[in-house]
Amino acid sequence: MDEITELITLINEFRDERDWRQFHNPKDLAISISLEASELLENFQWKESNEAIQENKNDIQRELADIIIYSLMLSSDLELNIEDIVKNKLKENNLKYPVDKSRGLNKKYTDI
Ligand SMILES: [Mg+2]
Repeated sequence: MDEITELITLINEFRDERDWRQFHNPKDLAISISLEASELLENFQWKESNEAIQENKNDIQRELADIIIYSLMLSSDLELNIEDIVKNKLKENNLKYPVDKSRGLNKKYTDI
């Protein structure tokens, strides 16, 4: 079993033991990903990046884990293969951001 599959198994065991899948429809999982991303942002609000990391690294890693957990739940429920969807998105990003046009630039693909 690869590491991602192992994580999904652990997450699904956790929610099945609690009978929580009934609450985990795709819409609410998507909302939860966004809410957890906001909780992650809270750790950076009014601080420089380095300052936030120094002060809040534990909370940052916990919120990042929440985002990943909800993302793995959603991908599992929609029967999406994480490796496939990430590789496909990287291919799309590669086309949008060819190295010769985007290297060292922080512009959106529509502006390069
Ligand atoms: Mg959280």
